Amino acid sequence: MNNSDHKILFIIPTFFFQENYHKDLFYSELPIKTLQVSAILKKRAKISTDFLDLRFEKELLPTYSQIKVDLVNFEEKLIKLLEHNFIEQVETIFLIMDSSYQFLQTVLIANILKKKFPAIRLIVAGQHPTAMSVDFSGKRSEFDMIIVGEPESAISELINFNYFSKTKKLNHPSVIHSSNMYDLNKLPFPDYSAYLTKYDFRDFFHFTIHASRGCPFHCSFCKIMRTRFRNFSFTHFIKRFEQLQKIVLNSNPSLPKISFLDQSYNSAILGTKILHHIIENKLNEIFNFTCQTRIEIIAKHKELLELFQKARMVPGFGLESANKQLLLEMKKTRNPTNYLKKLKEILEFYKSISEPYCRINTLAGFPGEDSNTFDDTIRFLKNSAFHENIQISPSLFINDPICSVYDNMAYYEQTYGTIFQKEWWMIQSDPLKNAVLPKPSKNYSKLQLIDDYKEKYLPLLTEFRLSPFKPLVHWKTYHNKWKNDLIKKN
Ligand code: SF4
Repeated sequence: MNNSDHKILFIIPTFFFQENYHKDLFYSELPIKTLQVSAILKKRAKISTDFLDLRFEKELLPTYSQIKVDLVNFEEKLIKLLEHNFIEQVETIFLIMDSSYQFLQTVLIANILKKKFPAIRLIVAGQHPTAMSVDFSGKRSEFDMIIVGEPESAISELINFNYFSKTKKLNHPSVIHSSNMYDLNKLPFPDYSAYLTKYDFRDFFHFTIHASRGCPFHCSFCKIMRTRFRNFSFTHFIKRFEQLQKIVLNSNPSLPKISFLDQSYNSAILGTKILHHIIENKLNEIFNFTCQTRIEIIAKHKELLELFQKARMVPGFGLESANKQLLLEMKKTRNPTNYLKKLKEILEFYKSISEPYCRINTLAGFPGEDSNTFDDTIRFLKNSAFHENIQISPSLFINDPICSVYDNMAYYEQTYGTIFQKEWWMIQSDPLKNAVLPKPSKNYSKLQLIDDYKEKYLPLLTEFRLSPFKPLVHWKTYHNKWKNDLIKKN
């Protein structure tokens, strides 16, 4: 058997207990890691791959919104779906998890596969296995292989060892620690076309691109996989960028948009080159662009603001909190006074122009949060960011096992009286609600947090001139219901 005789099916899991709000948050994201690994397997080993994205498989959708998971129903429907997708030809099933929310469903799928199709190899990779490989290993594990770290490098190593040409399965799971960083300039273009042929939804997916991997900063709430910070070469980046533009124009003709996912658009030199490229080639007349960046980077390279404006690039700034102690705890800055001052200056710029707008991300419910720290942030936003050209984008702190808070829970328990729900991903109810801290600090409960979050952010969200109506209704309904459920519980 050659590598090329091998057939791999990628299953993209989702999660149970879904509401409309979850769909707004998670359905338009493309499974980019999966598409990247698929491209490597095709290019380097000529392995044939296919996708099953469980978010969009009609038969399964009714099973996601129920109050209790109907295991029998889910199993029956999944098996039918697999049979319909020629499971008998598949040698390996690969599940790449983008988040711990997918844990329960991933394990359930593995359980069903092991029972019904025991000859198929199962590989799991991604965020959760990297942080908590122990959740998948052990003697009774359903998995044949658990990949820790960047799956691209591990897959390349497996191809080098002819793993996919070997017919024999091992009878215990192996945990592979991906030892090398993938050379970004050797990454093939992600396997968009195969995925988008199967899930051909017009104007639906959110297309993203990276000019780098990793991040040189160390925010303690950060949920990205910690890998060394490195850039694509400009030439290689441009090649990928041009390929992506074609895909976006074809898939999203009504609103072609590309988001730079580099966690902080953090190389000013590369960022400047890309902005010049966009402006010189008039790409800003065709596409809408967004990126994430850091307040310090823009404060140090003010010329970027003008380039953002010319390129119609919408930048997102991670403010997170306007409370100085929390900013220090989050390891967001060592000089909170200067940090807030610099952001105010940037915001003044956006208030003085009509296009493009900018976005401010905030994070509520970090360990140590209480009603005073919460109000500090709201006050800052009201005084400095309440404007139709500034989008305020709040989120709740998720105690993700990959973030450094998860490794330091004892510190927050002692310092702030924080109460954590450990292993929240194993609980059979809405994972988003379970991931939020039961008590961010001694005198501040989850109920108070959700109440403040809903009441105090709502007026700030509606001020932005492009505030989308339907997602806002879903946001409000979800948090209202959450608050009422918490009241009933208390
Ligand atoms: S939150 Fe953003 S800036 Fe902070 S470490 Fe993560 S990627 Fe970097």
